Amino acid sequence: MDDQAIDTNAPAADGMGHRAEKPPVGQADVAAGLAEVRAAIAQAAEDNERDPAEIQLVAVSKTVPAEGILPALEAGQRVFGENYVQESTAKWPALRDRYPDVELHLVGPLQSNKAREAVALFDVIHSLDRLSLAAALAKEIARSGRTPKLLIQVNTGAEPQKGGVLPDQLATLLAECRQTHGLAIQGLMCIPPAEDPPSGHFALLARLAKEHNLPILSMGMSADFPAAIQLGATHVRVGTAIFGARRPKV
Ligand SMILES: *Cc1c(COP(=O)(O)O)cnc(C)c1O
Repeated sequence: MDDQAIDTNAPAADGMGHRAEKPPVGQADVAAGLAEVRAAIAQAAEDNERDPAEIQLVAVSKTVPAEGILPALEAGQRVFGENYVQESTAKWPALRDRYPDVELHLVGPLQSNKAREAVALFDVIHSLDRLSLAAALAKEIARSGRTPKLLIQVNTGAEPQKGGVLPDQLATLLAECRQTHGLAIQGLMCIPPAEDPPSGHFALLARLAKEHNLPILSMGMSADFPAAIQLGATHVRVGTAIFGARRPKV
């Protein structure tokens, strides 16, 4: 163990690579979970004759306190995803002081009035989905000089409660982002409906990205990232399989 490691109260590994059975919430064996997810990504890449180096693991640490994130940092993970701007602003600056090469992704919905904080903190924003938000981001990018990568979220299941532009409105939003706001858009993101088999949604997102020449495909979570890799994901967003079950949000 690295002598700088902080005692995280994580249960000791059993030395055989097995995860503890049903760790209590917040006590998951993060390093073991991370190793399993990395191995599964490598396997899915191999199964589909893809180079594992083109698949980024975004470790989604929403609701996980800093001491729960440290084991992942200690195990070498540097790319993290968060859902809430306020939580991230409270949590990450101190962690980044210790690990300056961390790359932070905003994967949750973004309100236009949080654009300033989001542009200041995040390196990649996955949830651009409307013109008003594009305008707010463009203004902040110009003001701050920071240029996070931007992905458009597509609501592939056309779910009314979910963020994302409808597939048939993507071309218009893309054109407006580029022409009206001068924004470079790098890719697409989707969250398939929970009740659907995800592959149709991943295939649709991949087709849209290809049609518009967008290199980044953010798709796949704990339950379905191997299927997403099969269909071309460049970024998989995995939380539960690394950090354990989340506390219900209060
Ligand atoms: C929470 C979340 C994830 C991670 O989901 P898990 O099922 O815990 O892996 C990925 N993407 C988004 C947008 C999320 O909100």
